[in-house]
Parts: sequence; C-alpha cells; structure tokens
Amino acid sequence: MDNDCLFCRIVAGEIPATVVHETDTTLAFRDIDPKAPVHVLVIPKEHHADVVTLAQNDPTGSADLLAACAAVAEAEGLIMEGFRLLFNTGGYAGQEVFHVHAHVLGGEPLGPMLARR
Ligand code: AMP
Repeated sequence: MDNDCLFCRIVAGEIPATVVHETDTTLAFRDIDPKAPVHVLVIPKEHHADVVTLAQNDPTGSADLLAACAAVAEAEGLIMEGFRLLFNTGGYAGQEVFHVHAHVLGGEPLGPMLARR
C-alpha cells in the first residue's frame, strides 16, 4: 500500500467509497463525480501507477481487472446496450489518480469517443 495514494486508502477502508463489486484482487466503486448515469471505477487492490505498469508487472492481476470490469458491466445492466471502458494513462490523457483504474461508463448513449477539437 502507498499511504499517499487515494485509491490505496479506499482499498484500506480509510476513505469511504460506494463499493459495487469486490474480489480478492480487485475493488469497484462509484466515481465521486459521475460523467454518465453509470460511472464505476475498477482497480486492482495492489498499487500500480497505470495500466502500462500493471500489464508489464502483473499479467494475472491484469486479467483479474478485466474480468472485474466485465462483471461490473453485467451487474450494472450495461451489456445489452453497450458501454465504454477507459484507462486514462499519463499527462496527455489527463490521468489524475496514479493508481490504475478502469472507468466503466454507460447507461445512456455516450456520444463520440473524444470531444471534437
Ligand atoms: P482519472 O482522470 O482517469 O485519473 O480519473 C480519476 C477519477 O477518480 C475521476 O473520475 C474522479 O472523479 C474520481 N475520484 C476522485 N476521488 C474519488 C473518490 N474519493 N471516490 C471515487 N472517485 C473518485
């Protein structure tokens, strides 16, 4: 655990979150500032800064994370109509929290993948 990491502190129970799914290795909770009717963050419990370091260092954890995202999408009723799975990674993507997290977004048509320039 990284004591300076917000999401490690959520995993540790030090900061409250609305948890919607949990496994031995993953935690999923609602985004505090939702950008869609369903906006869930799915994280590995172990600290990795971003999806690149997770993929490079923990293939099993990577698979666990993807499986948890699918389970959340199913539990939230998103499979039929579709949803978006997003990993902001680094500065150009505007990553704010450096504990890898997948955004699971859905519940209405989400529009184009990126805002027009
Ligand atoms: P990103 O820009 O991909 O790093 O996204 C970070 C996300 O974390 C944003 O969508 C925030 O709204 C969300 N967030 C920040 N603090 C919390 C929190 N305490 N609980 C739930 N979501 C949070």
